[in-house]
Amino acid sequence: MDFQQVFGKSPETQASAPGRVNLLGEHTDYNDGFVLPTTIPQSTTVQLGLSSDRQHHFYSENFNEQVSILDINHTPSGFASYIFGCIEVLQKAGYTIPSLCVYVKSSVPMGSGLSSSAALEVATLRGLRQLLNLPIDDVEIAQFAQQAEIHYAGVQCGIMDQMASSLADTEHILFLDTRTLERRVMPLPEKAEILVIDSGVPRTLASSGYNQRRAECEEAARSLGVKALRDITDAEVIEKLPEPLRRRARHVVTENNRVLEVLQGVTSERFGELMNASHASLRDDYEVSVPALDTLVELLQKTPGVFGARLTGAGFGGACVALVAADEAKSIATHILEQYKQAGYTGQILVPSWELSDAT
Ligand code: ADP
Ligand code: MG
Repeated sequence: MDFQQVFGKSPETQASAPGRVNLLGEHTDYNDGFVLPTTIPQSTTVQLGLSSDRQHHFYSENFNEQVSILDINHTPSGFASYIFGCIEVLQKAGYTIPSLCVYVKSSVPMGSGLSSSAALEVATLRGLRQLLNLPIDDVEIAQFAQQAEIHYAGVQCGIMDQMASSLADTEHILFLDTRTLERRVMPLPEKAEILVIDSGVPRTLASSGYNQRRAECEEAARSLGVKALRDITDAEVIEKLPEPLRRRARHVVTENNRVLEVLQGVTSERFGELMNASHASLRDDYEVSVPALDTLVELLQKTPGVFGARLTGAGFGGACVALVAADEAKSIATHILEQYKQAGYTGQILVPSWELSDAT
């Protein structure tokens, strides 16, 4: 199915936005800290046209599903909530949005931590900006996208995913201060590329573990008399905290320092070392790794051509990200998956994308 077949006419415009992976700065965003995401090659494309009745009609090729919005006072559920949310946040900001036909297709893996939701929102908002000549910039697109996800899809997300999708690209990483939104777009480390492998272990305990870590960080900040752990730069002061708060705080403080070091400019080798240190900290101090992730990361770290590797996302399962020598990602990935299988696990390569590069 394409736009023509679903809606009986051609689209008026189309726009795309990529998924993202966080390279460094994990569990720092809710501590007002620093993050360092980049985008992945897979993206979401949204085609837009005017609707001839008074309703919005959304179609997802990935779900082979169409949703029509009969009552704009009632937020739809599922994928339509993200698109509807983007339209509604623009209306609330004073822009008049006509009834639309929207066709979505995506190569971003959904629900794997690569932020297909932000890709959908940013692509939708870029499409609307183009169709209606809206005077909004890329930062505002990220902010509208985050509001859509919070208020319409019901996900309490930070702004990292939307900022990465809106401001970064596959050649650039985004440094973002999640408190001030100060940011800098920097080139990817030299002669390196990104590899993302799913561990095959679902993030079952992720939401309870995540909430517990958040609460621990808030408690640590309170005991230290600061607004957020981001305000601690001297690692000495956390020594007086009781365990496990001391370990949790140590992860946040050291992780923020690792991101800030990258901001000074580092080689690919050093970037890799910082990723390795991040994994050790997430495993030992933050305690959000699981044996499968540790196995995968260890296999990656001892493979020639790999600068560094760590779990990415909240942990408790999910994916690992590695920085590897340019043009070696595919051979490294194939080799790693075999060894991972011998260790009793089944992984999956998420980035680079085989289909995408085979098609080009
Ligand atoms: P992630 O962002 O990590 O991929 P989320 O649960 O935040 O996972 O977002 C996934 C949801 O986003 C999907 O369940 C769906 O509702 C919506 N979504 C993303 N991409 C598409 C798409 N191409 N078609 C329809 N819905 C999509
Ligand atoms: Mg998401």
